[in-house]
Amino acid sequence: MGKRTAARALAMAVNCAAGEGAVGSLPCGDCGPCRRIAAGSHPDVLVLEPAGKEFRIDQVRELCRELALKPYEGRHRVALIAGAERLNPHAANALLKVLEEPPERTLIVLTAPQAADLLPTIVSRCRQLRFKPIAARHLAAILERAHGVPAAEAEAVADTAGGSVTRALAMLRQGWPEKRRRLLAELPELAGGPPLRALLLAASFSRARSEAEEVLGLVASWVRDLAFAAEGAAHLVNRDVRGEIAEAAGRLPGDFAPRAWEALQRAERRLGCRIRRLARHAATGPGAAIVACALARTLAGTAAPPHSGAPGCGACRSGCDASTGRIALARGAARR
Ligand SMILES: [Zn+2]
Repeated sequence: MGKRTAARALAMAVNCAAGEGAVGSLPCGDCGPCRRIAAGSHPDVLVLEPAGKEFRIDQVRELCRELALKPYEGRHRVALIAGAERLNPHAANALLKVLEEPPERTLIVLTAPQAADLLPTIVSRCRQLRFKPIAARHLAAILERAHGVPAAEAEAVADTAGGSVTRALAMLRQGWPEKRRRLLAELPELAGGPPLRALLLAASFSRARSEAEEVLGLVASWVRDLAFAAEGAAHLVNRDVRGEIAEAAGRLPGDFAPRAWEALQRAERRLGCRIRRLARHAATGPGAAIVACALARTLAGTAAPPHSGAPGCGACRSGCDASTGRIALARGAARR
């Protein structure tokens, strides 16, 4: 279950006509309030999303004014601040007072990728609930069943969405399956070629904010697949292009995958968890530049040789997430 789905379930639980309205009770999902909350039309469930890149301070002030009123029909009023990492310091400070002394019968829910993305003063006033990323195959199933996404498209975004339903849906809206197809078609040709071609391609892909991480994730999954090509299609992430992967794996030098992997890992470390913040500030900011360099280095095979003592994941048996490609290459598999 994703963070927003959980927040909606909480709003249902405290307002369900069939239940007692306790925070821990389960909603029936079928009564009037439950249905209206699911449809997004309950007057006491407020969802606040950023107007543009960030939340504006007047959005937060307006929310505080609304919250000062009594609930219209529900037992509790629930305010969901979705993507709270996009509260700028002014908006966040405007929220502090209501977080410190929330009005009666009011629940304020903030969602964010990680607590470190929020001001410490906000975090210290909230109770934290951690969510694990949803495994790629479950995410694909959720997209198919709950959102009617065709199976092939669901699989294509599930591998790169970092376990988030919201992010997967945003990627679909931004045409990620088509971008992924284009990138996967060009990667084999670019590998081992001149860095300039890779830079040009990276520049065309890295224009949109937040796309940087997705492009890196996809390239990582492709490099990983090169190393595992000999193990058979079942071990690949990008199974739909297994033929092209097998061809590239046979053609490229044996040390290409480990070298490329090393370049990607360095890029990921540089981007770190700050990528969202970086990417927010400029569409072609440092995030895009790092991706462009990483792509060029990865594909041209100009990265430094891998550390001899690089940690191996034992071919994904020790809990690492092969579906996103974010694994350390098993030493055995890398040494083809
Ligand atoms: Zn109900």
